[in-house]
Amino acid sequence: MTILSTATLAYRDPSRSTAERVADLLGRMTLAEKVGQMLQLDARGDLDDIVLHRHAGSILHTSPERIVQANVLTGRTRLGIPLLVAEDCIHGHSFWPGATIFPTQLGLAASWDADLLERVARVTAVEVAATGIHWTFSPVLCIARDLRWGRVDETFGEDPFLIGELASAMVRGYQGAGLDDATAILATAKHFAGYSETQGGRDASEADISRRKLRSWFLPPFERVAREGCRTFMLGYQSTDGVPITVNDWLLSDVLKGEWGYTGTLITDWDNVGRMVWEQHVQPDYAHAAAAATRAGNDMIMTTPGFFEGALQAVEEGMLPPDAFDDAVARILTLKFDLGLFEDPRLPQSGLERVVGSQEHAALNLEAARRSIVLLENDGTLPLADRAASIAVVGPLADDAQYQLGDWAGGSGQAGWLDGQPRAMITTVLDGIRELAPEGSSVTYTRGADILTMQPDPAGATFPDGQPRPPIVHPCAPDDARIAEAVEAASTADVVVAVVGDHIELVGEGRSTATLELIGGQNALLDAVIATGTPVVVVLLASKPLVLPASVQDAAAMLWIANPGMQGGRALAEVLTGRVEPSGRLPISFARHAGQLPIYYNRIRGQHGDRYADLTQAPAWAFGQGLSYTTVEYADLTLADTELGEADTLVAEVTVRNTGERPARETVQLYICDEVTTVSWAEKELKAYRQVDIAPGASERVRIELPVAECTIVDAAGRRIVEAGRFRALAGPSSRDADLLAAEFTVR
Ligand code: BGC
Repeated sequence: MTILSTATLAYRDPSRSTAERVADLLGRMTLAEKVGQMLQLDARGDLDDIVLHRHAGSILHTSPERIVQANVLTGRTRLGIPLLVAEDCIHGHSFWPGATIFPTQLGLAASWDADLLERVARVTAVEVAATGIHWTFSPVLCIARDLRWGRVDETFGEDPFLIGELASAMVRGYQGAGLDDATAILATAKHFAGYSETQGGRDASEADISRRKLRSWFLPPFERVAREGCRTFMLGYQSTDGVPITVNDWLLSDVLKGEWGYTGTLITDWDNVGRMVWEQHVQPDYAHAAAAATRAGNDMIMTTPGFFEGALQAVEEGMLPPDAFDDAVARILTLKFDLGLFEDPRLPQSGLERVVGSQEHAALNLEAARRSIVLLENDGTLPLADRAASIAVVGPLADDAQYQLGDWAGGSGQAGWLDGQPRAMITTVLDGIRELAPEGSSVTYTRGADILTMQPDPAGATFPDGQPRPPIVHPCAPDDARIAEAVEAASTADVVVAVVGDHIELVGEGRSTATLELIGGQNALLDAVIATGTPVVVVLLASKPLVLPASVQDAAAMLWIANPGMQGGRALAEVLTGRVEPSGRLPISFARHAGQLPIYYNRIRGQHGDRYADLTQAPAWAFGQGLSYTTVEYADLTLADTELGEADTLVAEVTVRNTGERPARETVQLYICDEVTTVSWAEKELKAYRQVDIAPGASERVRIELPVAECTIVDAAGRRIVEAGRFRALAGPSSRDADLLAAEFTVR
């Protein structure tokens, strides 16, 4: 191999435009180099093969050491094209030892605070960029409606508008002031589109979703970030109507690139091209699969090493012309030039420990954790009185530092080079309570219950093709001795804090759950400690909404803290002790029973009756709900005009009064009901919201403006339109009818 003297070549000249440099470099590349440029390969593999043989354009899952090794290898290649280094930094720099790990995306979503999420993404980008990584596979824009799905924790919840607001903020935070800023990283909108609409919650199964349904709810958040300049889009795993997303012309060409004019870079999900051959059996071999994926407009092919040979064979056999890869390669090179990687490959910086996991970032993390906590029930026990007390902390999750961080974090299994984040950086619930309980308090801890063990799959050690079958979850039986110990502690305490939930083996890809109940000895533990009569504060530390046992109705209070990140325990203790007011609101509904799934507030009107014969259809807690320590009343919803044209703006005002004795951070929600639609439509949809701080006794007239052009439906032909007629503006603290004031208006 001849290494070119590249110093004087046009593509090396930073004074030229990106377009000129791309054209020059493309003209110098061999077919194999072009095909290789489209590959993103797993850096845990053989780096020589990845960089020198397959000419990969990108790597992912790179340990700190291997980033540097890979860069040394690119220096030995003919053209010296730098690698794009990617990682799933989806709630902080997940797999970097000592990085700041924030609440999960679902936890962050409970803040409903776009500005906060932008700051979280910015800080994440600063940490990520310092470590030599250029690209995060975040945010997730999937709509979570079936709580059995194992990836609900990665989403912003169930509402398209809220998803759009928060995703847009995170993209801004990651991409910062522009890619030439050394702290900017590429954002990824994923998983395009409809991946979450799996059947029965089974991960990556066929998504049963019509084009109109996609256009109505699933595509709008993607459209927003596509138009706002999110530099990359990742396709999901799903097939729709028999067509794997990797070759879905309608979504990729007609909608994304056509209607929305998207010029960014597409990346497949993990081995999507290979899956068309070995899993979905819709392509006979890698040559056909590579040809189909290239024709459909994919740019970067994640972890399908066989794409390399397949694509070359496709050209050799005349399935693809030799220039078939040019557009994709040009888009990938554009990212590299825009990031300035040819001038500075952005390797891990020296002194990065001053940036990664810094005190300043921990402070933002604490703010995010506070805002992620949702108080769902409270009989007045909270906040705890400011005097010495005997506090019995019970439950298997009260002191589980690594699981508190959730999926896609140090201990969640995707990265072999670390098995957790430093314990000293994590405040568990027990740590937090010990630290912040009023002086003179006694804090005891008993585990009370185990959750699960992993056991061999009874179907056998291997699949028919010889691949090993993963072990399966086996719930632990309630342990009488552990429960007795917890009951003893509870009986002699002033208050019990019971921390229960799910565990990492029940969360993530391929780990959907059939049920939503707390498993292992946890229900028995709650039943027993609640029966002692001591006030019990139930803390649900769970990746997603779960179903709690009936005994919780007699608990003193109940909070959901998702996976609250490294500062979660401190934040919770601050809320329990009243140092901080609870302000989180549900970004997703809680079911009472898995049989209610899918459950979401913006359901389409029309069914026989409104309940199951044996159960209400109402959720346990609905989208938008969440309590403060004070009471808040809504009154006098008025509209500035009630006869509006499509170009007008609806101006709604509502009085929000803090009728209690503590401050409130209220999330004032505005839903729109289109009373008569030409096609069936949701009864109401969130269209805007505002967060306001209201002092005790004070009231505020909260004004929310909404362009009438947002009051749309998708008609039978799939067009998004405003239909003239009667509407209602609904304002209040949650999506529940009982919580909403209504005012009518007409669109001409
Ligand atoms: C997941 C993606 C992730 C990718 C790379 C896939 O299995 O679906 O969300 O970004 O792996 O880790």
